[in-house]
Amino acid sequence: MVPLSLTARDLLQKIAKDTGVSYQAIAQDVNEGMKQGIPLERCVQRVVEENGLDSDEYRLSPTKIAAEARRILREDYTQTLMISAVLGQLVEADGTERFPVPAFFAFLELLSGLEDAPRDIKSEASTEIEELTTRMIELTTTLVSLICRWSEGGIDGVAESCPTSLREIAKTVYRKTKMLQSGLWTCISCGKVVEAKDTHALMCSECDDGISEGRPLRTRRPIGTRDRSGYGQTSESE
Ligand SMILES: [Zn+2]
Repeated sequence: MVPLSLTARDLLQKIAKDTGVSYQAIAQDVNEGMKQGIPLERCVQRVVEENGLDSDEYRLSPTKIAAEARRILREDYTQTLMISAVLGQLVEADGTERFPVPAFFAFLELLSGLEDAPRDIKSEASTEIEELTTRMIELTTTLVSLICRWSEGGIDGVAESCPTSLREIAKTVYRKTKMLQSGLWTCISCGKVVEAKDTHALMCSECDDGISEGRPLRTRRPIGTRDRSGYGQTSESE
């Protein structure tokens, strides 16, 4: 039994290993397909079948991805707080560092849906946080590419193949992404809908003013020098 791939990157690496085709070439193929609005699963299926492999062995499970993301978020309170802070910065970053907004919405939904809050408090090494943050980015970007329906213009609904248990998350991601595209933003602190241009660090100006003192997490530098694509890393640099 081969270990299950949970992220697009894991899966593409497995395909590269099994076919002998370079990771970059496969990633490029899949990226091209997705840009044309072809779902991630179908792009992967095409590459796998072109190389004479059985596509059933190269599937991603949205429910398992969500379970893994929730497991990480439940692990440790400080760690979850730090991951959230870094993702909050990356969603406002420019260029390749930018964390895609739909994936961030999915992250917030997973976080707010946790029944048992993380309890354990231990000190975290920053490299560990960076690794977990990267993992979270890859899990959530893969998740939204599977549960939402995509077209050239971005998300345009819930994927037909989206499992029932994740439909609410997919719907929320879709609704919030549309709102943002129309210039509105939901304050991540109080939930109020405000003009996107009036937000600071993803919050409405009132919430931002409210915590303008003592915010050690937000003064941290965004992580890393990694080159990320829409759903993860484009290079096999790890
Ligand atoms: Zn607010």
